[in-house]
Amino acid sequence: MENKNQLNSNEIACDNCGAKLIFKPGTESLTCEFCGAQNNIKIDQTKQKEAHKEIDLLEFISNKQDVSNEYTIQTVNCTTCGAKTSVDANVVSDSCSFCATPFVNTQAHDVRLIKPQGLLPFNINAKEGHEAFKNWIKKLWWAPNKLKKYAKLNEKLQGIYVPYWTFDADTSTNYSGARGEHYYETERYTDSDGKSQSREVQKTRWYNVSGRVSRFFDDVLVMASESLPQKYADKLEPWDLNNLVPYDPKFMSGFRSEAYQIDLESGLEVSKQKMEIVIKQDIRSDIGGDEQQINSFNTNHSNIKFKHILLPIWISAYRYQDKVYRFMINGRTGKVSGERPYSWIKITLAVLAGIAVGGTIYYFTEMQQ
Ligand SMILES: [Zn+2]
Ligand SMILES: [Zn+2]
Repeated sequence: MENKNQLNSNEIACDNCGAKLIFKPGTESLTCEFCGAQNNIKIDQTKQKEAHKEIDLLEFISNKQDVSNEYTIQTVNCTTCGAKTSVDANVVSDSCSFCATPFVNTQAHDVRLIKPQGLLPFNINAKEGHEAFKNWIKKLWWAPNKLKKYAKLNEKLQGIYVPYWTFDADTSTNYSGARGEHYYETERYTDSDGKSQSREVQKTRWYNVSGRVSRFFDDVLVMASESLPQKYADKLEPWDLNNLVPYDPKFMSGFRSEAYQIDLESGLEVSKQKMEIVIKQDIRSDIGGDEQQINSFNTNHSNIKFKHILLPIWISAYRYQDKVYRFMINGRTGKVSGERPYSWIKITLAVLAGIAVGGTIYYFTEMQQ
């Protein structure tokens, strides 16, 4: 519980008693830590559109001096993993949400960043997050028992607003490649009894092709954090981006936020790589035939627009045998994703105990997600 006299200037005070208010997940209100009063967040409907506004990239870059697009946040740099997270100004010592390294002599400093235009408020609360973490750990059949015990004792979850970019673009791609068409030839051979036999053999005939495909991309999501492993963060998708609300620090009260480490330009490059995977599929289906070769392609991106948003993620970073494992929950849907160690002793014993190896491998691969 906070002393009401120690309210920091960024914090929001209770209408009833003046103490600090914390955003309550799943609601549109703040709750007082001191007297329990609920204070509604008034979402400005005229600003609602801003959360969804797609900003023209070229225009934005040419107006880069425009400081109205920026804001300042106070962050602490983690010396181990490099994360820059906002911290509660009243807290003297704490630990990094992403790698569990203790912050000593918490020294926050200001960073200037592009202001997020919108966010998705937390919908899942800490208690529901703990349940999800416990269930996830329980199901880890191959995990070391020590880890399960450890996780039970240290199920500290941190709610973080993680920065993301989303990009829209019109693309058109010229390509050249080849289309492979299968045909069959009859081949004669002599079988083990010395008899002459024939069989059909599949061959491929190649034709050079070139062409052009185009596609519009909408809201390609790029996580702007380097503190979470991208492949695990991708597994938290989908996000209900249609429910974005305009950026309002009230939704952040009681939660941490992270400063982006992947800037707008680098984020755009990542989004282009994501688009490329889809474009290559388009090229292959445009080539047609039974097999395809792509020799070269060149994509033109135009009409690029972006949004900068914050998405709610519950994180538990746990250290086990000197390694950090991270567990994440989509703060909207409760979808879970995480890194975990394997107990090789358990796996070996299971195999020795006569469990079908095929089944084991299948189970093992399934459990990796
Ligand atoms: Zn109060
Ligand atoms: Zn860290």
